[in-house]
Amino acid sequence: MPTPTRPRLVRCPQCSGMSEYSPTNPWRPFCSERCKLIDLGQWATDAYRIPVEEPDGSLPMDDGDH
Ligand SMILES: [Zn+2]
Repeated sequence: MPTPTRPRLVRCPQCSGMSEYSPTNPWRPFCSERCKLIDLGQWATDAYRIPVEEPDGSLPMDDGDH
């Protein structure tokens, strides 16, 4: 007899609807793929821009003579 696990509900960060936070929900903590994609879309905008760090000076020397 399987243990009755009560699905843990969390609030979707995107639409504020209830979403199931469980391994069966691949979009957790979002309620759906749509909400997750919307959130990922926001990451692509200025709202969540992450500064890209260039590995400055760690590359092999290239004198530019091609
Ligand atoms: Zn949602």
